[in-house]
Amino acid sequence: MSPKRSEHVRLFIPGPVEVRAEILDAQSDWMIGHRSSDFAALYGRMQPKLQQTFYTQNPVYLYTSSGTGIWESASRCAVRDDKKVLHLTCGAFSERWAEVSHMNGKQVEVIAVEWGQAVKPEQLADALSHGTYDAVACVMNETSTGVRNPIEDYAKVLEAYPDTLFLVDVVSIYAGAKVETDAWGIDVCLTSTQKAFALPPGMAFGAVSPAVLERAREIPHRGYYFDVLEIDRHHQKNNTPATPPVSLMYAADRQLDDMLAEGLEARFARHEKMAAMTREWVQRAGFEMFSEEGYHSPTVSNVANTREIDVAALNAFLRERGMVISNGYGKLKGKAFRIAHMGDTQPADLEALFAAMDAFLAEQA
Ligand SMILES: *Cc1c(COP(=O)(O)O)cnc(C)c1O
Repeated sequence: MSPKRSEHVRLFIPGPVEVRAEILDAQSDWMIGHRSSDFAALYGRMQPKLQQTFYTQNPVYLYTSSGTGIWESASRCAVRDDKKVLHLTCGAFSERWAEVSHMNGKQVEVIAVEWGQAVKPEQLADALSHGTYDAVACVMNETSTGVRNPIEDYAKVLEAYPDTLFLVDVVSIYAGAKVETDAWGIDVCLTSTQKAFALPPGMAFGAVSPAVLERAREIPHRGYYFDVLEIDRHHQKNNTPATPPVSLMYAADRQLDDMLAEGLEARFARHEKMAAMTREWVQRAGFEMFSEEGYHSPTVSNVANTREIDVAALNAFLRERGMVISNGYGKLKGKAFRIAHMGDTQPADLEALFAAMDAFLAEQA
């Protein structure tokens, strides 16, 4: 492995997450032209692995952007200008996606719940019985609050509304828990590289259904860079409309192999185990979970700062020991702190983190 240039601080923040040295090194292979047959082979061999991990037969498009780019793509291409999109919001990221739809000129309606709560399927059923929507947009794992929303239950509600497209952000949970894109009827299922995929930032993936392409044909101004029709036209040739991040694709190709070698079920079980370990630590240390009981995320735990510790001081203490966690998001700063347990983080890494956090707490007493 090539030597790294800076000191290693292990990331327990919910993005970017810790990336293994092998994955960082996979990026250092020689460049290839993105119109070459070598590139088409790379793109082509990633496709079945992406479909397997997304549990879909739909194409999985590669976007040269972070996850936000696919929000923009989905908002523009799946919602007609004279129709409405229903956003389910429960935290910073789901709220921001609603803002993205609004900024793209779409008519947005929102079902909002308090941060820490999950949006319930009954709320969705109620809204759908009173209005007509081109799409429902939601975030499966709200990274800002540590809530895992009941997407599979939304799917059951949506079965009665075949013309309403189902757009789901799985950014911080893809490959950390099973996301059954096809079985749940998800029309756009999107993730980016730097969260549960455990890759460096800079690329995003979207599994897109034929119904979205059909809808897009009815929308005259879809933009260019994130237009699903343009992306699909190139996808047919194992290619991308513009220059993709080839180095990051090398890393993704390697990571997909490693995820499948671990076994997806084993990978999901490891995440469940790490989430349970974290919740046990939270209880033992005298804190409480911020997220609603029954909806705790398997990939990131949001801990209510019930002991009113100085989170910045905790992080300074951890940093001296080569680790870092995350303060509460936005308005939760100081009131909560987040521990990510996603990607390639192992139970032993968490044990080391909890030992250090216990040492900090012991100094406070
Ligand atoms: C981080 C995050 C995003 C934003 O993704 P970027 O890759 O930073 O654009 C969107 N949704 C969720 C749930 C996230 O955690």
